Amino acid sequence: MKCPVCKHGRQIERHITVTLDRGPVTVIFKNVPARVCENCGEQFVDEKTTASLLAQAEAAAKSGAEIEVRPFAA
Ligand SMILES: [Zn+2]
Repeated sequence: MKCPVCKHGRQIERHITVTLDRGPVTVIFKNVPARVCENCGEQFVDEKTTASLLAQAEAAAKSGAEIEVRPFAA
């Protein structure tokens, strides 16, 4: 599948780090499955993964920590 941003690069499957801000809390997820354009570097996370990230970020935000780092759980 061609990259929709630059229309050139191929998207390759990789695991990335995603940072989400939830009010005062910053949640950093490691090992998130994504596709990354080999040309422009644009990162694409699918809807299911995004929904899961948001739900996990909400849970992490309740921990009270300012910065929470956790592995992504599918
Ligand atoms: Zn691209």
